[in-house]
Amino acid sequence: MPVQTQIGLMSHDELRAELERQTARYEQLKAEKLKLDLTRGKPAPEQLDLSLDLLSLPGDGDFRDADGTDCRNYGGLAGLPELRAIFGELLGIPTANLVAGGNASLEIMHDTIAFSLLHGTSDSPRPWSQEPVVKFLCPAPGYDRHFAITESYGVEMIAIPMRDDGPDMSKVIELVSSDPQIKGMWCVPAYSNPTGAVYTEDIARALVSMPAAAPDFRLFWDNAYAVHPLVAQCAPVLDVLGMAAEAGHPNRPLVFASTSKITFAGSGVSFFGGSAQNVAWYLQHLGKKTIGPDKVNQLRHLRFFKDAAGVRAHMDKHREILAPKFALVRKILEDRLGASKVASWTDPKGGYFISLDVVDGTAKRVIQLAKEAGIALTAAGSAFPYKQDPADRNIRLAPSFPSMDELAKAMDGVATCVLLAAAEHALT
Ligand code: PLP
Repeated sequence: MPVQTQIGLMSHDELRAELERQTARYEQLKAEKLKLDLTRGKPAPEQLDLSLDLLSLPGDGDFRDADGTDCRNYGGLAGLPELRAIFGELLGIPTANLVAGGNASLEIMHDTIAFSLLHGTSDSPRPWSQEPVVKFLCPAPGYDRHFAITESYGVEMIAIPMRDDGPDMSKVIELVSSDPQIKGMWCVPAYSNPTGAVYTEDIARALVSMPAAAPDFRLFWDNAYAVHPLVAQCAPVLDVLGMAAEAGHPNRPLVFASTSKITFAGSGVSFFGGSAQNVAWYLQHLGKKTIGPDKVNQLRHLRFFKDAAGVRAHMDKHREILAPKFALVRKILEDRLGASKVASWTDPKGGYFISLDVVDGTAKRVIQLAKEAGIALTAAGSAFPYKQDPADRNIRLAPSFPSMDELAKAMDGVATCVLLAAAEHALT
């Protein structure tokens, strides 16, 4: 939604005074010579410390899982069954339908797209790369690294407006049902990056049951934040595989998740979920690039969590660190920008981001001003396919990494930049 601005109601003289006020404040900000970073959704060091025990696990002489598999050796392509059972319970996916892999779900997403391009999916008449054009639907604002994968392979990306309860379904249905070149769609169903949107069950059902012109249309269902609430009650995990099977499209969803924002972002475990046919398809191609995953790391995670309740209890500790940071960002935005109505922002109940909309045509300027004042914000347009925010309005805020003090300074600075850019814009 375009931001409604009180500044738009000011007289020319009032605007000039506002510009002077904000310029003076901005000059003070620059004089502070800050060096702050709100760009990426990285866990803070205190969050990583919650998993320090992993560094001494599985421990001396412990290298076998319950089946007696020697985790130090090759093999076990699908990952440790006990760990898959724990995360299967959390993700609502039977163990047999869930594969545990290396440290990054992004790698699995990349690989499933590369496999589809090179070999086709199990429902494809030919490899996607042999189609004249391959298109993906991209709910936006969305995750920049998703869009980077599809862009890098020349997949044509179509932006779909993102709402609070998921993507604009009338657009999705119209396009998917009529265009056989649309082969896929990026989805972050829970606490979406960056708006925090949570897909409703109705939207999930519509996505798995809508007619698709392409017989091999796939939902890239990235459940990165399934167990990452910022409030006591976590959004229910949608049984997307069950719903898809019921709707007669069992192969449509490809599910991705990881422990990146649960344990160590750089050394966690990733997961791939799908129908039996999709799992067989994935493993067949995966088996050409690896003999098996890092099972010692998987065993370490298994010993650390023990069960699904162990993961949930661990996520409570993350929440205790993260929730005050999100509350602080909201408070500063409200205090500094609430009255002037030069911005609107999301109030996520989970995940890692807040999406800030500033006056149309000023996001790039805000980001530039912030950069010159030593505050790094995610590049303008990042949350849109081809990095093109048509309204030049959206800024993704990542509050997790900085300390509370740094965050307060950074957000106060961002608010000054938003106000200054709005005043400049109104005077042009
Ligand atoms: N998916 C989403 C929606 C994310 O926001 C992120 C990281 O910010 C990732 C995936 C990255 O996941 P991984 O670390 O498992 O590659």
